[in-house]
Amino acid sequence: MHSKYLLFMSTLRRSKILITMGPALEEPGKLEAALRAGADAVRINFSHGDSAQHHRYVRLVREASQRVGKSCAVLADLMGPKIRVDKKTYLLKPGATVTLTRGVGKPESAIIGITNAGWLREAKSGQRILLDDGKLELKFQGVLRGLAKAKVVRGGTLKPGKSLNVPGVNLGLPVPTTKDKTDLQFIQKAGFDWIAASFISNAEDVKKLRAYCSKLGLHIPIISKIENAAAIEHLRGIVEESDGVMVARGDLGVEMELEMIPTLQRNVIHLARELGKVTIVATQMLETMTENPLPTRAEVTDVSTAALSRVDSLMLSGETAAGKYPVETIAMMDRIIRMAERNLEEDIVSIPHVEYMALTCEAGLYLSLSLGAKALITISTRGSTPRILSSYRGNIPIVVACTRPEIYNRSPLYYSVYPLLIDPVRESETVFRKIEAELKSRKLVKKGDVVIFVFGYPIHGKNRTNTIRRWEVG
Ligand code: PGA
Ligand code: MN
Repeated sequence: MHSKYLLFMSTLRRSKILITMGPALEEPGKLEAALRAGADAVRINFSHGDSAQHHRYVRLVREASQRVGKSCAVLADLMGPKIRVDKKTYLLKPGATVTLTRGVGKPESAIIGITNAGWLREAKSGQRILLDDGKLELKFQGVLRGLAKAKVVRGGTLKPGKSLNVPGVNLGLPVPTTKDKTDLQFIQKAGFDWIAASFISNAEDVKKLRAYCSKLGLHIPIISKIENAAAIEHLRGIVEESDGVMVARGDLGVEMELEMIPTLQRNVIHLARELGKVTIVATQMLETMTENPLPTRAEVTDVSTAALSRVDSLMLSGETAAGKYPVETIAMMDRIIRMAERNLEEDIVSIPHVEYMALTCEAGLYLSLSLGAKALITISTRGSTPRILSSYRGNIPIVVACTRPEIYNRSPLYYSVYPLLIDPVRESETVFRKIEAELKSRKLVKKGDVVIFVFGYPIHGKNRTNTIRRWEVG
């Protein structure tokens, strides 16, 4: 086993931390510090930046992961059918009338440039238009002599490139959008581990996105971001078609009533959990720490609540991308999750599997519980076993020995999964002994402890998981 690919003692936390890459982490050494503080995965947001920047970000993350000796998943977040304003700054006075136009606007004439204007023809007068995550609000008045007019309800400074939401209106944009397609071509070449898709409205969107990826030869798990009323309406279909879902509370809180968020978050997590899919909770988790060294009590409670509902990952956005305390924020999230997990009682999800491979995994999990095993260890060549084993959301650590870097890089996003990169194996006893030595040196197990191996036998063959082995640490 490569000594540089050690299992990190500090990663024995079950819910993972997904951070957002940005200028605050570009400084030399910052990403390494972020990984050491507890980051397990990094999101690169395609709503901002260009491909040169995205390329640099992927490289920086991979290098930091290598240097620290810790696996790190890299997630590409597609912009999807989202409208943004142009790159200019506007001062919007309450009561003033503005014009919306496709392309570049003119701040001096109160003409706001936006990326997509087709929906204006369908919009009814009185429709709410929310800018910058709802901080500013317009009321649509209608199209007068070919010009789309709106009145400023909640004014302020509209900063460049901010979001524009029209709750309940179908924007009529295809999924994937033209921009997403270009980005996916880049993503395929750059080698990402996950995709997150913004503004997925129904199962058909996920199918279309997957079909486009397949056409590119891009076989990558897809996380659908749940962020508007349409997604909530078609939730089951979306969850079924996706590899995971993100409760994207930023846009969800603009597209729907704020007070709906806690209930929606609970429902999405619950459904995804029943269907064995990945769950991520995102946005404003420790927002205060963007500018301050400490979070609010409410934020601490929010992070803790997500950990108690055993989500796979909790996401940080501006806190790590552009905040003053990116590393401190990660360390704080790490502490809160660990504390929440300390007394979390076993609550295994019953997932109705039928394939023998999954049933073998499940049997291995139950055996590990009955025997009081210290770890459940799987040797994964295709990445199915870490996915299946984590979906039961048991308390036991799932150590995944991977021979392929793709699986090693993808796995850290899963609940309670700790990936190890190993050399290709030909013989099971040797690899078991190596893993045992590794866990012992990390003080995760000691002589006399029991661990359970779940793997495909013979180990060098093409067999899928078919064997459970009890192993006493010597
Ligand atoms: P975003 O997604 O940060 O890409 O908008 C998350 C959210 O909307 O909460
Ligand atoms: Mn969003």
